Amino acid sequence: MEQFDAFLRSKQKRRTSERFAIFQCAQSLGGHFSAELLRQTLTDSGYHVSTTTVYSTLELLVEAGLILCHNFDGRCRLYEYAGASPASHHHLICTVCGRIKEMRDAEVDALINSKHYPAFSQTSFTLNIYGECRSCQNRRRRASKN
Ligand SMILES: [Zn+2]
Ligand SMILES: [Zn+2]
Repeated sequence: MEQFDAFLRSKQKRRTSERFAIFQCAQSLGGHFSAELLRQTLTDSGYHVSTTTVYSTLELLVEAGLILCHNFDGRCRLYEYAGASPASHHHLICTVCGRIKEMRDAEVDALINSKHYPAFSQTSFTLNIYGECRSCQNRRRRASKN
C-alpha cells in the first residue's frame, strides 16, 4: 500500500480512496482476474466504482509494477497481483474454455536466464502455452462417443 502511495505521490496523481480500494481488492482476489471481476467484487462489497476508474487505476498499478497485465492470445486482458506469484511463472491456456493454469518450470527458467541477447538486458519473461485442458478433452471425448 505504501508503495502505491509513494508512486502516486511521485507522479503527482491524486491519492483517492477509490484507487486504494481497487489495489486492496486486486490483492485479495489472488491469481488472475479481469477488470470486470474486480469491479463486480467491489460492487458486491458495497463499494461503487466506475469501469473507467477501475481501468485507469489498473493502468497505474501496472506502471508501478504492483500488478502484472497479461494479454492472452490478444483476446482477454487479465491482471494479477505481482506480489502473489513469482515473477517467472508460466501459463497453460486452454483455447476452448479459456481456463489458465499457472505452472513453473525451473528448466525453462534456467534456459532463458542463461540466454544473452545482443543489445538487450532481460529482466523477466512469461511463457504462454496454448492447448486444451483436461475437462475440455474429456468433454470432447464424451461428445464424440454419442
Ligand atoms: Zn478447457
Ligand atoms: Zn500468471
